[in-house]
Order: sequence, then structure tokens, then C-alpha cells
Amino acid sequence: MGIYEFCFPTTIRFGAGSRHEIADALKAAGVQRPLLVTDRGVVSLAFFEEMLHSFKSAGLQAASFSDLEGNPVQSHVTAGVSVFQAHEADAIAAVGGGAAMDVGKAIALMAHHPGNLFDYEDGKPDARPVDQPIPYLVAVPTTAGTGSEVGRSSVISDDDTHAKKIIFSPHILPKTVFADPELLLGLPPKITAATGMDALTHCVEAYLAKGYQPMCDGIALEGVRLVAKSLATSVHNGTDLNARSDMLAAAMMGAVAFQKGLGVTHSCAHALSTVYDVHHGLANALMIPYAMQFNLAAVPEKLAMLAAVVGVEPTGDRFIDWLETLKAEVGIPKTLSQIGVAEHKVDELVAVAYADGCHPLNPRACSAADIRSIYLAAL
Ligand SMILES: [Zn+2]
Repeated sequence: MGIYEFCFPTTIRFGAGSRHEIADALKAAGVQRPLLVTDRGVVSLAFFEEMLHSFKSAGLQAASFSDLEGNPVQSHVTAGVSVFQAHEADAIAAVGGGAAMDVGKAIALMAHHPGNLFDYEDGKPDARPVDQPIPYLVAVPTTAGTGSEVGRSSVISDDDTHAKKIIFSPHILPKTVFADPELLLGLPPKITAATGMDALTHCVEAYLAKGYQPMCDGIALEGVRLVAKSLATSVHNGTDLNARSDMLAAAMMGAVAFQKGLGVTHSCAHALSTVYDVHHGLANALMIPYAMQFNLAAVPEKLAMLAAVVGVEPTGDRFIDWLETLKAEVGIPKTLSQIGVAEHKVDELVAVAYADGCHPLNPRACSAADIRSIYLAAL
């Protein structure tokens, strides 16, 4: 059967108001000069101002870097490292959605490591070793989607080619996550829907991924149940703290579970982001029913189990119907053409998706022709 590695993450302080613990936690860790890494949207929110104020009151010399927009690219990281060094920072608090998390982790890596960020790309034959100190790193998620706050990787794109590169190291796992659902209460419905569908896709693909990982399977199934219970409420009643809590937990559960692997939905989604700059969560949401239709022949029992977990008749077909219904309920378009994807771009999408590292763990092996048929079904 082989030997598998099970690795469960970091300390999570979960609950409304946990953000008020951050300043004291940093002080207790001996931090004096934290750099807050966030995006342009978050930096203007009241809670961020309060956070800076609480850092000051605790005697911390804080600076912030918020020059982030859209999918994270290498130049964001380079700019952030300059701010880190100019401030002589000794810690990083990554505050925001997946982009802030990933850039915060990458700045932490590059703060004291030589060379270029992509010299550390996972799986690169001549990758440089991660052997220098990493600044103390904490994470404060403000979306419920990627779950990057509990992950050991950072996904950063090349500025020019938009190709996504994965930097993986256990050392860039945040030391503590402050998961405060109050920070999600103002998240707009569109972002809530897209990020929530990413969390769902992580749970579903992790559960279906090849390999023996029963602990992850259990976490993934409960994550799917929480999404079924609370995503639509989070979208339509954004101030529902219980629904926001469920989704914040589900996002972290998805990210914990996908250490097992992901699948062809993510490969197709990555290509949509590379070729069309589609939001990652939206791209997954668009693709997942079509990818599951492809998987149905290989793993009917597992898809039936997912159907049971979301509360519909336990068959794979009903699970796929449920995905379509949920998409419609949270305002996600049904097809790729609705977001402007053109058939003449399918060849390019297939090439990028086939080269992607996620589909080799998909429960049904995917040829380039299979991926093409999934895209054509989704058009
Ligand atoms: Zn994802």
C-alpha cells in the first residue's frame, strides 16, 4: 500500500474577536517590528486601522505593505521584500484573502533568502534550498476560500506569462492563524460566492484525489457539508455570523484536506486564470460540474457519498445536479461562454491545463483530449 504522510497544520485561534489577540501574541513571540501585508481593498477598512492602532498601543513598531491587486505576481513579492527590509521588520502579519496570504508567505521566504523567488519553485530540479531564517509569520484571513492561511505553499504568477508557480515549504506555514469570522461580514456577495466555491472545490477534489488519506477524507466531507449548509446564506445574508464561521472553517478544512491532492477541476481553472485572468474561485465554480461529469465513470461511489453529505439522493448524477443548483443559487454563470471564453481559445486552455500539476491525482486519468472534452462541455 505504500507509506503516506499525514500532516496537520498550525495553531488556529478561531472565533469572533480573535483578531484582538494578535498584538499580544506577536509581543509574546518577541516580535517588535511587524510588517502587515494586505491588499488595497483591506487597507481602507476600519478593522485594519484598528489593528494598526492596537499594534501601536502594544508598543509594536508596525509598517504596512498593501500594494496588491488581483492575482498575486512576482513583482508584488519583490516590492514587499523591499518594504520589509526598509522597515527592518522582524515579522509578517498577512491580512486578507488568498493573494495577501500568498504574497505574505513569499515575502517571508525572500526576506532572508538569496536569488529569485522562482529559484524556490516546488519540483524544480535545481531549486535552491529553504535553509535561512524565516520571519515570524501569522495569518488573518478575510475571505473563506483558498485556506492558504493553513497551507504550506504560496502560489505566485509570473508577471509576463501569468504562469502560476508553486513555492512549497513547511517553513512558510503561518505560526498562528487568527480566524475571525467578523472580518468576513462585509464581504460582497460575488466574492463570497467565488471564494466559497473554491473552498468547496478543494474539499470535493481532495476527497476524490488518489491516495490513502482517511483523515483528510473525513475533513473534506465535513467541509462539503458546511458549504452545503452555509454558502448560500453567506452570499445572501452576509452578516450571518454562523454562516460566515462555517465557511471560514470549511475553507481551512479544504486547504488541510488538499495536501492529499486536487484534480482536473483545478487544472482547468488554473488555465482559465492564466489565459483569461479569471478569478480562481469563479474558474473552479464554472468547471466543477463538468469535471465531475468526467469523473463519474471512475468514482461513482465517492460521488454518491458526496451527494449523501449534501443531503440529496445518493447518486453521482444528483451530486452534479446539486452543484449546478448551488452555482445558480449563488449567482455563478453556468457556462464559460457567459464569461466570454471563445472556442478558438480552447487549444491554448488545453495546453496550459494539461501541463498543470493538479490533474495527475485526479481519480480518472486525463489525456489532453479528455481535458478538451471537459472544456467543450463547459462552453
Ligand atoms: Zn483552489
